Amino acid sequence: MLPTPIRPPAQTSTNRRVVVAFAPRIRQPLFLPACISRDAGSFERAEQRSGTLLSCLMGSLGRRKKENMGSATNSETLTTLLFDIDGTLLISQRAGGRAIDTVFEQVFGRRRSIELRLHGRTDRGILTELFNAEGRELTDAEFAAFIDSYLRELDQNLHQQPATVLPGVTQLLPWLAEHPQVALGLLTGNVRQGAQTKLRHTGLEHFFAFGGFGDAHAHRDDVAREAAHAAQSHLQHRFCPQSVVVIGDTVHDITCGKAIGAKTLAVLTGGAQREELAAAQPDWICTDLRQGFSILQHLLG
Ligand SMILES: [Mg+2]
Repeated sequence: MLPTPIRPPAQTSTNRRVVVAFAPRIRQPLFLPACISRDAGSFERAEQRSGTLLSCLMGSLGRRKKENMGSATNSETLTTLLFDIDGTLLISQRAGGRAIDTVFEQVFGRRRSIELRLHGRTDRGILTELFNAEGRELTDAEFAAFIDSYLRELDQNLHQQPATVLPGVTQLLPWLAEHPQVALGLLTGNVRQGAQTKLRHTGLEHFFAFGGFGDAHAHRDDVAREAAHAAQSHLQHRFCPQSVVVIGDTVHDITCGKAIGAKTLAVLTGGAQREELAAAQPDWICTDLRQGFSILQHLLG
């Protein structure tokens, strides 16, 4: 169900315009409800500022001023921001990795034989690799059983060693959630319930209305497609494929964003080196989401 506009609809000159003022807020969060304040900071842009998104955003900004910021219609599109979780919104002290190790040992009776590579990957892809390394195919039933145990371990780990919300997040998300031209979603390799668990432990679960997750897909590009489809289903005619920004901390976040034609904002809070992320050519690179906040403020107005 679409959210109700907070202002009366007005006439528009074209139905192709991208984002105008006072589009409705998302009122059906993916997980639950929230609030906080706003803030700013300096930023640095890595790549070009030109492109469709910027044109949409700056055109929108111009229209907002022109139209005195008060004439949105329910047919006007929003800018969709898709956030990664680990290393972007929070650091969970390897709570997920430790949970995987615990369950793996329960299932196989021994420690894993290969390195556990987590960054930018999906839970489905990680478990598929671990099972294959043991000479087994990962069936859907085995995946479901593993994840069931994993979620209990993850929750316990996060109780014992709480995750940390990264700098700028508790200022940025409330500002975006209140922004009339923005829709917030997730693009994460976590299974849906794993994402919910991590966000619930950090009080961030109520900001996101839709998302793509690591339940079904081994490759992040497919998660990005799932997220875009979820955004389209949620926003319907207010979804603009050219107005999507993927925000994440790994090369995989950048490449999957490009796979769906999105702009990409890379953050250096997940351990990747600047040179590594820059090589993947994101549209912007920021040290953390305090700087990311300034980039988005500048673009969205
Ligand atoms: Mg990440």
